[in-house]
Amino acid sequence: MRLLLVEDDVMIGESVLDALRAEGYAVDWVRDGGLADTAWSTESYDLVVLDLGLPRQDGLQVLKRARARRDRTPVLIATARDAVSDRVAGLDAGADDYLLKPFDLDELHARVRALLRRSAGRAEPLFIHGRVTLNPVTHEATLDNQPVSLSQREWAVLEALIARPGTILSRVQLEEKLYGWKDEVSSNTIEVYIHSLRKKFGAGFIQNIRGMGYVIRREPEAGAS
Ligand code: CA
Repeated sequence: MRLLLVEDDVMIGESVLDALRAEGYAVDWVRDGGLADTAWSTESYDLVVLDLGLPRQDGLQVLKRARARRDRTPVLIATARDAVSDRVAGLDAGADDYLLKPFDLDELHARVRALLRRSAGRAEPLFIHGRVTLNPVTHEATLDNQPVSLSQREWAVLEALIARPGTILSRVQLEEKLYGWKDEVSSNTIEVYIHSLRKKFGAGFIQNIRGMGYVIRREPEAGAS
């Protein structure tokens, strides 16, 4: 999952960046409203963590512009503006959740997980797909109830695919989920992760659609024969 962090306070920004990266998210960090607008309108993010008091352009304006171009990315406002009117304005401008500073990093993580879950159309905290489960809280994966050990990158590839069964993700789209701006990407790494995941979960679990990308098939509807 790839996140945009918009925060002008260097200390807060660094600690949130480190905490999100430690959870395995690819994170791009910008420190003013103008850069936030540019990044948000040109890159594809799974979630935006948005401060409101920002140089150049207020966070609320950045949010309104995103929603005006029909961008549906989930938005978690993280701000020190604690008045009820600010919270109402933020949510009514299109934010999905509102977190007051100072906040606990565990709460930030839980809210991020909840927003990602909802945006993928899930209510249950676990990803369950046939014989495979992924737990985004503990980062544990199982096959037939047996734990499967995954690297952070393998986890990220699997999560991106299992979050949207039936959706084909190209190599470039998977790279975008795994890497932020400053990460080095070598050309065949996605293939390496896919190869390793197939060894661990069975060759048919992730399918290669020639010339298009990779997909985990939708599960058959319960009761269908
Ligand atoms: Ca600020």
